[in-house]
Amino acid sequence: NENSTLARMLIVFTVGGGGLMAYSDAKPENGMDVVNPSEADTRKKRVVVLGTGWAATSFLKGLKNSEYDVQVISPRNYFAFTPLLPSVTCGTVEPRSIVEPIRNIVRKKNIDVHYWEAECFKVDAENKKVYCRSNLTSNPNEKEEIIVDYDYLVIGIGARSNTFNIPGVAENCHFLKEIEDAQKIRRTIIDCFERASLPSLSDEERKKILHFVVVGGGPTGVEFAAELHDYINEDLVKLYPKVKNAVKITLLEATDHILNMFDKRITTFAEEKFQRDGIDVKTGAMVVKVSDKDISTKELKNGGAVSTMPYGMVVWSTGIGTRPVIMDFMKQIGQANRRVLATDEWMRVEGCNNIYAMGDCATINQRKVMEDILAIFGKADKDKSGTLTVKEFQEVLDDICDRYPQVGLYLKNNQMRSLTDLLKDSKGNAAKESIEVNLEEFKSALSKVDSQMKNLPATAQVAAQQGSYLADCFNRMEECEKNPEGPLRFRGEGRHRFRPFRYKHFGQFAPLGGEQTAAQLPGDWVSIGHSSQWLWYSVYASKLVSWRTRALVISDWGRRFIFGRDSSGI
Ligand code: FAD
Repeated sequence: NENSTLARMLIVFTVGGGGLMAYSDAKPENGMDVVNPSEADTRKKRVVVLGTGWAATSFLKGLKNSEYDVQVISPRNYFAFTPLLPSVTCGTVEPRSIVEPIRNIVRKKNIDVHYWEAECFKVDAENKKVYCRSNLTSNPNEKEEIIVDYDYLVIGIGARSNTFNIPGVAENCHFLKEIEDAQKIRRTIIDCFERASLPSLSDEERKKILHFVVVGGGPTGVEFAAELHDYINEDLVKLYPKVKNAVKITLLEATDHILNMFDKRITTFAEEKFQRDGIDVKTGAMVVKVSDKDISTKELKNGGAVSTMPYGMVVWSTGIGTRPVIMDFMKQIGQANRRVLATDEWMRVEGCNNIYAMGDCATINQRKVMEDILAIFGKADKDKSGTLTVKEFQEVLDDICDRYPQVGLYLKNNQMRSLTDLLKDSKGNAAKESIEVNLEEFKSALSKVDSQMKNLPATAQVAAQQGSYLADCFNRMEECEKNPEGPLRFRGEGRHRFRPFRYKHFGQFAPLGGEQTAAQLPGDWVSIGHSSQWLWYSVYASKLVSWRTRALVISDWGRRFIFGRDSSGI
């Protein structure tokens, strides 16, 4: 229960950053558990989950095993449906319609789940503790620090917006990552229109205030630019007719095209549509500085000329970076030279016991996967010969082909997969018991496909699938301990407990405004236009986390169709 849970936590109050007061009724000050051995055997294993985003929520929703004591820690006591955040910036959808309290999500579960509104600032892998801080104190100078022990730690704390340390970005730009960001953007758009409508302004000042700059031509930046264009043209020009000619939207992209992770047809369609809509798309333009009045860009072609333009609002959407707590943790575990936390295919953080990471804060280390594949063939492991039994060889190949389609394709093309057949006699029995693998040949085959084994994209789709995969592993932890169902271990004996994580791509959308969306579905099936917009409505409505949010979002869409978007500056 909650009291005993609290009793197993060490709570420290830091008053004014000064003295420490320790409250601990069940533990000594070093924070170690004071359960006696028999209690330790019977007590539930504690799973600490950091975050309430896509990965963590999907993990919590999937967790069914009541043998765990689950502690969820996040500064946000709700889950936010991020794909609809751009719609919140313009009032197409209300913020409350896309959030669900985490307590609501876990309420009906038959397992012990406790939530603490706090932010983790340190992970101590050696002593199996996380250090967290809560702002929820009556005294604003007082911060409450909480130290929580774990048996298993599941990290799903996402990422932060990446400013690339470009001067002035953090101070002067809007970001689009959290609900508060979207609300701030919504207010700022209306403020710009109200300011531009004041009587004392020159035309030039008006144009500056109504110049909206979006930096980043990825799906989020493009969707925001499209949404803003619709908002202005469908709603705001009717309310602010005198300033409508002063409005301008500029989309800046450093590479040659916007939406460059999509099919070429989508990129071309989007660029042409934006041109027709009057959105000024500047490609090959890299932002080098943002002051409180203007934004400077360097043209990547034409000798790198730097130009400066005044703006009223800048929205920065250029990708994601690692959170400080993760960077600190990476240094601690010898991953300081990496960009994001590396895990294996079972979501286990490399070099740590019982720590799992998923979603935007982590990535599966593909290079390690390659090394592991090589290790199967023995020679990478010093103590093994390069010989496998025919059965092992077939099993390993099947597993590789299954997990890494590109490698599988190569092997198939080079008939390596049918190698075992060649070893059979005319009756189909294995003529040889073992097989010597040409490691050099295999290595060169792998190096060709290596470049194609890219990191998984940082999307909600990946995070949600990783969360439910991990929940499934936790649900069957004991069962699979006894009957491992994974592939043969690349290193060591026996099999892995679980099958490795496999990502299933269901396609991606790029809403382009004017009730038109581009959809790229599996098999490179591309659809652009009004029909895809309806597909977008249906998919997003179905993916919302609860019936309550589904009903709210659908009614927001209906309200927008009938009455237009709200334009009050609150
Ligand atoms: P998040 O969902 O970001 O969750 C991180 C959680 O960790 C949050 O609850 C946060 O409060 C918490 N947290 C942060 N710091 C700490 C800390 N120190 N201690 C404890 N908890 C912490 N993806 C798609 O697939 N399709 C889309 O259409 C799409 N559209 C998007 C639109 C926008 C505007 C944005 C910003 C993203 C979009 N994405 C989309 C990407 C998607 O949102 C992310 O990939 C996804 O949120 C990653 O999930 P996550 O669980 O790793 O992180």
